[in-house]
Amino acid sequence: MRRTFENRLLELHSTGMWNIYYVDRAIEIAKRYCCTGIIFHCNEFVDRVVFPSIFFSKADIMEYNPVRNSITKNNQYYLKAVLERCAKNNLKFYVETKEFNFDDHLIYKYPEVIGTDGKICATHPFLFEYVEGKYREFLDMFPEVAGVIVSLGTKESKVTISANKCHCRRCQNTDIGEWYKKLITAIYKPISEKGKEFVVRDFAYDKTNQDSMLAAVESVSKDIIMAVKKAPHDYYPVSIDNPAIGKSDNQWVEFDTWGQFFALGAFPCSVVEDIHERLIRCYDKGVKGIMIRTDWENMTQASVFNSFNIVNAIGAAMISNNLDITDDEIYKAWGNCGIFSPLIADSYKQVDCRIKNKEDLDYFTHIVKEGFRIIKKGMYGKKNLLALNSQIFDRIDHSWYIPMVQHNRDAWEPGCTDIFKPTEENIAFLKKEKEEALEMAYELSNFIKSRKADISSSIQEYLDFLTEAFPAYIEGFALEVRTYMYVLMAENNKEGYLKKARESLLPYDNLAERYKKLVRGKCYGHQMLYMLDGDRLLAYKKSAEERIAKIRN
Ligand SMILES: [Zn+2]
Repeated sequence: MRRTFENRLLELHSTGMWNIYYVDRAIEIAKRYCCTGIIFHCNEFVDRVVFPSIFFSKADIMEYNPVRNSITKNNQYYLKAVLERCAKNNLKFYVETKEFNFDDHLIYKYPEVIGTDGKICATHPFLFEYVEGKYREFLDMFPEVAGVIVSLGTKESKVTISANKCHCRRCQNTDIGEWYKKLITAIYKPISEKGKEFVVRDFAYDKTNQDSMLAAVESVSKDIIMAVKKAPHDYYPVSIDNPAIGKSDNQWVEFDTWGQFFALGAFPCSVVEDIHERLIRCYDKGVKGIMIRTDWENMTQASVFNSFNIVNAIGAAMISNNLDITDDEIYKAWGNCGIFSPLIADSYKQVDCRIKNKEDLDYFTHIVKEGFRIIKKGMYGKKNLLALNSQIFDRIDHSWYIPMVQHNRDAWEPGCTDIFKPTEENIAFLKKEKEEALEMAYELSNFIKSRKADISSSIQEYLDFLTEAFPAYIEGFALEVRTYMYVLMAENNKEGYLKKARESLLPYDNLAERYKKLVRGKCYGHQMLYMLDGDRLLAYKKSAEERIAKIRN
């Protein structure tokens, strides 16, 4: 019997979803690799397509916000067109949102949602009424929608109990679990009335929130599907499996294939093997669906579709359709699909560049596989993130804040951040790790130069770029983590480290210059300016100098 996941969904998360060329291309890929549906992941998606009219009459809209009237109408027609295309291709369509969300118009019309201290009140009863009415109208208007995926109460929502700014008596007396239950019930009602699927996304940043939400979902209905990321907290490729996997009867698991935390497709990185291993474990734990993310909400004009990393999306689709497929078959399918250059902004259609022979396929497969090995050692410090969404840091404080606070993994992997304790051993470990990553990046450069594949000139241009740019990119992480550790040692009065900290800043100017030469004035897609921003290195250096100046000799 073929081992397969019932739901295999390709997710669009960037503004590309509002471009029909982008959508058609995603539909084509979804269909070709046997996905069962498409997800539009936009926090405020429903608020962009309905007013809703039970709370805002036409007269209100025209008085408060006539522009919103026209834009909403446009979006309604656009969604109809997308739904037609999905239906024609036999793909289900899901919308993925965050709640609470609403247009600011709501505050003018219903000022009672503002609490006593002038902040929006997360427990105001009208908000729950609003959300119920909003989804009811949305599903009435678009009955072709298969289901709704919602992140509840995240820090990225407009209003939430977990980051509530209102201190009214009701807010103070509301139990977090009760709040989740109320919100889930409000959304579940219209969805279940229409017989649609309701997926609640576990987006909690800490364990207490996670537990409260899971309990709330279970208390509302057994029909609700739970979606969790492949790893706890976020999509790090180096992380353990999310311990929540297998904890719900009806569960989907989310994978990022573009690489928010593995170089955003700017540098090649195959996580095919990683996805394969994780999907086998997911299947054994009874997971029923997989969500395949292909881009990122905070970046435009870049995605798996203009990157070598499309191999990951193809892989995730093919593996979830048949767990017993071999990774070689996936790389072959990638070669047949064609390869794309991230130097070209994603709104351009690229010249068809399929891999024509076995030698070239082996060559490209080696490049994407090595890319992952290099990024794991280069962008991470013993499994802790040394980057901000794949960018080098622009201030020394982030060397502490990102791994220790924002992305702290100690709750799930105890002792994970111990590597940043200022000791000689830790410095030696990180130094060796970065040297190895850099050496591997140079080896890959030599490998790329070692032969000429039968490919288009735009892919050749990207390969030439990689030979210089990949080692430079990795070197940025190496420089920053070294400075950071030396500064920590100096701050702890460790003999000789003040001098070392100062000296560690010497190579920054030169590397910043290399970054600039690689990407400026080239008219590449703007993503390359983001990935190799020399000014960020200089800003890091400056912040380190300021911190060093405060250390007593
Ligand atoms: Zn309140």
